[in-house]
Amino acid sequence: MAQSAISQHIAALSGIPPQPTVAEQAPATVHPFPALKPGNRLVPALIGTRKSAHTAWIPCPTWCVERHHEQPTTLEDITHTSASEDVGISSFLKPDGSLLMYAMLQADPAASDPRLRKAHIGIEHEGMPDYLTPDMAEAFVRDLFAFGEAVLGLARAARLHNAATGDSDPDMDEALRRVRGGAA
Ligand SMILES: [Zn+2]
Repeated sequence: MAQSAISQHIAALSGIPPQPTVAEQAPATVHPFPALKPGNRLVPALIGTRKSAHTAWIPCPTWCVERHHEQPTTLEDITHTSASEDVGISSFLKPDGSLLMYAMLQADPAASDPRLRKAHIGIEHEGMPDYLTPDMAEAFVRDLFAFGEAVLGLARAARLHNAATGDSDPDMDEALRRVRGGAA
């Protein structure tokens, strides 16, 4: 009889699903996430509001430079962003130049658009962001290379023009205008 009771007890136990350990129990407001994928590491993120926030560990791509633990946010609003690559432009009338555009890697894990969830390239120009897939970014850069070749062609043409005409000295031009003005 005793054996039978133990057998019944073990049988009852086997019917109980394994309980999660404390480490496996995620806080109620944190969505469980699948196993860490290659190229990601766990980083602390501040989830909540300024008045009430807690730290959760989230997967974050190794290229991400966001400090997810500095400003409280919702999990849905977390995006990953790399350091930006910038290109500026200067002119001889405005030597300090200005930022032309900058590009960075981005991923928005909670986005409804799967292309935004994947790593993509964000390019900002005059405050307007554009989002490119890797294929689109490569096509864009090929356009930039062609544009660069064309601008080099313009530079060669300008140099040839100036060498041929030789009268591009602005002081000479101004003196000429004064002489002409006085003669009129
Ligand atoms: Zn990140």
